[in-house]
Amino acid sequence: MDSAEIAVLIGGIVSIVGVLWFFFGAREEDTGAKNVASGPIYACPMHPWIQSDDAAANCSICGMKLVLQDEKAAMP
Ligand SMILES: [Zn+2]
Repeated sequence: MDSAEIAVLIGGIVSIVGVLWFFFGAREEDTGAKNVASGPIYACPMHPWIQSDDAAANCSICGMKLVLQDEKAAMP
């Protein structure tokens, strides 16, 4: 294997890694944006672990109407 083949091989690997990184990075941002834009989370004020994306849902423990939850605030 001469230096030209090695250069092509390294170039190919770098390209593939770059493309994968781009897609995975972009996908994470997409998912986050979609969750905020089209998938608001509703949670029980008394039982925050009871969550639904259905605004009309009720808590399965106490039956209270779920309220809109800020997903970022819920993160520890
Ligand atoms: Zn509840």
